[in-house]
Amino acid sequence: MPLEARLFVRARLLTMSAAGSYGLDPRDSIAELDGRIAAVGEHAELQRRYPDAEVVDLEGRLVTPGLIDCHTHLVYGGDRSSEMERRLAGESYESIARAGGGILNTAAATARLDERALAAAALPRIDALLADGVTTLEIKSGYGLELPVELRCLQAARRIESLRPLSVRSTYLAAHVVPPGFPGGSDGYVGRLCDEYLPAVAASGLAHAVDAYCETIAFSVDQVARVFECARALGLPVKLHADQLSNMQGAALAARYRALSADHLEFTDQAGVDALARAGTVAVLLPGAFYFLRQQQAPPVSALRQAGVPMAIATDCNPGTSPMCSLLTAMNLAAVQFGLGTGECLAGVTREAARALGVLHDRGSIEVGKRCDLAIWDVEQPSGLVYSLGGRPLHERVWQGHRFPVAQPPISRGGSAQESAQGLAQASRSR
Ligand SMILES: [Zn+2]
Repeated sequence: MPLEARLFVRARLLTMSAAGSYGLDPRDSIAELDGRIAAVGEHAELQRRYPDAEVVDLEGRLVTPGLIDCHTHLVYGGDRSSEMERRLAGESYESIARAGGGILNTAAATARLDERALAAAALPRIDALLADGVTTLEIKSGYGLELPVELRCLQAARRIESLRPLSVRSTYLAAHVVPPGFPGGSDGYVGRLCDEYLPAVAASGLAHAVDAYCETIAFSVDQVARVFECARALGLPVKLHADQLSNMQGAALAARYRALSADHLEFTDQAGVDALARAGTVAVLLPGAFYFLRQQQAPPVSALRQAGVPMAIATDCNPGTSPMCSLLTAMNLAAVQFGLGTGECLAGVTREAARALGVLHDRGSIEVGKRCDLAIWDVEQPSGLVYSLGGRPLHERVWQGHRFPVAQPPISRGGSAQESAQGLAQASRSR
């Protein structure tokens, strides 16, 4: 039986397909077939090519690729809001971490939950991201520390795909923090990672990539290099939390292992930037953590831009340093705090985020053959997506060709007949 095509017509398209520009495409319509983009063209032309297609009239709305959040830690147990109070009282993140708070606090709460409970706990955070037009999401493990809990976290991340319409890329954050009292300390833990945990995770097929945290309060350059050697031998690409709180030469380390991405980068120097450029590694900017930790030194955005390093933006959604479940807010913070332009922000949550996950061949821009993942917006200008805080500009999300209109608010009884009619018309239009 021939497949039914669907046409999305009368759109203002931001295809995000070419680096360096984000102008509106002269074409106004997309043909979707079997969850993929079959054609991009003029309405009349696509209508001729697909005469039997279902037609969705977007009435001039702005359409971007579905957004991609390429760095989150949103599968975890417990609550860390009390630590915010401590930080507001003047304590530093490092001091709280050294005193058994921070990651270890979340690790203990995570270990108490089974896979179902971990996935369920993440759903409110997922739903908030979906409301921002997210269609692909990266989720890192890392709060499990011990292998069985880490596998459970990775399984919970995958389970989310069966609970909500979106795609999950899972990352094994192998070297996050040393479990307290681990024999041999951090070196012993890295040995265990290489001998046992990494091979088991690779065999499970539950991780698309391996990540590590290179920092004075976490793992050294040499230790991370050992982890990356093992990951490489197992055929898993790597990512790195690099140069967030100090210049550990993390960017250069990530580049040496041709990492998909180096993330944070507040303290990266010119040599690090040049290394990223040579390796083609994506710089993932995490303005939520920068904001939440009240950091003073911003990532070297001008140097990254000048060197041609692709820049992505992510929420870093996590309970300790970036309890943020809004990718649109991350775009605003990247613009205001780091000086990214609208085009850079949009590329950072579409094309470059896809690159940071190694899935650019499949999504991240509106191009023939890629997944039909779209976000349809009620904004006048592309800059409207970066400009507002807490707005709800999403009109409809399309994931692999399936439509998910945003629910319209109920019509108030006190509204006029005209307002009610407008509300009803809007509701029926989105069906
Ligand atoms: Zn992170």
